[in-house]
Amino acid sequence: MASPWIRRFGAIGLVLLASLAYAKEPKIRTPFLEGWEQVSLEQMERQAKAYPEVYWIEGPGESKVVAFTFDDGPNPINTPPLLKVLKKHGVHATFFQLGMWVEKYPDLARKVLADGHVLGNHSYDHPYAGKLSNTVFWEDQVAKTQAVFQRVLGFTPTLYRPPYGEITDSQVELLRDKGIKVISWSVDTRDWLSARSMNGDAQIEGMVTQYVHPEAIVLMHDGGGPRDHTVEAVDRLIGNLKEQGYTFVTIDKLIGVAPQFAPPPAAPAPKAASAAVAAK
Ligand SMILES: [Zn+2]
Repeated sequence: MASPWIRRFGAIGLVLLASLAYAKEPKIRTPFLEGWEQVSLEQMERQAKAYPEVYWIEGPGESKVVAFTFDDGPNPINTPPLLKVLKKHGVHATFFQLGMWVEKYPDLARKVLADGHVLGNHSYDHPYAGKLSNTVFWEDQVAKTQAVFQRVLGFTPTLYRPPYGEITDSQVELLRDKGIKVISWSVDTRDWLSARSMNGDAQIEGMVTQYVHPEAIVLMHDGGGPRDHTVEAVDRLIGNLKEQGYTFVTIDKLIGVAPQFAPPPAAPAPKAASAAVAAK
């Protein structure tokens, strides 16, 4: 039996209510790839719906913007040519870096930041997090990498990308409570797989061209193997997407958050010093 509220406001009210609750259904556009032990699309979409404002697979609106993201760096072979291409096109992207590589290549991480890109946490050494307790996940992976960022780059990021897209609900809740956003993707270019193909760059380009949509989060890599196909594809894709009317944004702008936590407040001045200032 319909509730009095529904009888009173009718179907139009229901539709309005539904559209408010689900302004946009978060959805992964690229199909599931069999045989690679990937997290199911259903699982990622369920988490995006279960944790709105925390777990993101695409932007919340319909603006013609797209966010390119690059994982697993910084990498001395791949990252410099990628930075060159992005600079040539005047595009800023989001780099989800591993704590172990930021530690090993601090100058490269600083160069990515200096070029105006946004940096996020991609764990310390890329584990399958589904097997980790919350304590190990936090201490040995997320917090450890936050500390590396603080040491090398002077800030801690608010954005975290789970390796393989694998993260338990309880880990999402832990990050939520720490004020960290979980960033997955809506378009998987599969560049890690195309890296092995002769025409890998065309395959990567094809995936983006076929599945791009307003407020897409596009997954690519500048670490974890040879990425010259990715760099070539990015060079062509930026021009193509601009021609289609897309502009490029970083993840923080896409979802409307600050990319870095505010620094902790400075320690209060010693008593004698503040008294001296007050006396002046
Ligand atoms: Zn990764």
